[in-house]
Amino acid sequence: MNADTAAENTADHAADAPGARTAVVTGAASPRGIGRATALLLAEQGWNIGLLDIAPCDTLAAEIVAAYNVKAFSVTADVSDEPAVRTAIDHLESALPPLAALANIAGVSSPVPYLELTSDEWHRVINTNLNGVHYVTRRVAESMVRHNYGRIVSISSTSAQRGGGTYSKTPYSVAKAGVIGLTRALARELGPHNITVNAIAPGPIATEIMGGPLTPERRTALTADLVVNRIGEPHDVASAIAFLLSDDSSYITGHTLNIDGGLYMH
Ligand code: NAP
Repeated sequence: MNADTAAENTADHAADAPGARTAVVTGAASPRGIGRATALLLAEQGWNIGLLDIAPCDTLAAEIVAAYNVKAFSVTADVSDEPAVRTAIDHLESALPPLAALANIAGVSSPVPYLELTSDEWHRVINTNLNGVHYVTRRVAESMVRHNYGRIVSISSTSAQRGGGTYSKTPYSVAKAGVIGLTRALARELGPHNITVNAIAPGPIATEIMGGPLTPERRTALTADLVVNRIGEPHDVASAIAFLLSDDSSYITGHTLNIDGGLYMH
């Protein structure tokens, strides 16, 4: 592609309304999770939605189409299985408008103390929470580079910055720290293709990833560490993701945005 063609493509895609583009969201199957809240918010803002989860998301896709008059399509894949991810994104790409945004939200928790950790547990968590982000990003970035436009946001955690300290322990912190490194390196490499790459580091958010629904006692204990006097809700993270996927965030890249009620100030 020569410089003139690149400039034309940039102009074309920057001018596109979200309705002409697709946002891929991983990890949206969980009924009270951050992924579902993000997919619904992006659809409300006019994005077409591609859903990828280890569990089926057909019902959510149908709900999005009915409620927001956008296109939605779902594929089932384990993010830690690179060939399956590539096939799944191929399907999303053939069913939907150009892939312009990616929210890497799929993830697993791991409360096992380090001295009780098995090799299988270490690899399960790293494979899903770090390698999975790389596999999905790599495949979607190939499409974004072709269109010379993209927005990528991946979910890290304050656990990466504080050395754990919440529910999940060592491999989770390591994987989420890796997401921050991956984000910075990709921001640098993909920047020339008009692609921004950012991370979000949530603090405690009321989903079921910390071993099930949060009891009032656990909410009180978790809130004690915060500056904002409440546990976060999925919408708190979804709205930050939506901003970082929007054209309004075009001068922000390589950044890690904490959505954590003041848990980690740096
Ligand atoms: P969640 O409700 O458990 O959602 C995680 C989603 O990822 C689920 O739909 C899950 O499917 C899916 N998933 C798990 N393994 C997968 C795989 N191998 N391939 C594809 N999809 C997979 O948890 P959440 O709280 O919304 O978490 C979303 C993200 O935020 C995660 O990356 C998490 O680490 C991060 N985060 C959460 C918090 C928090 O306090 N909630 C804090 C910091 C960071 P199944 O349900 O079928 O397993």
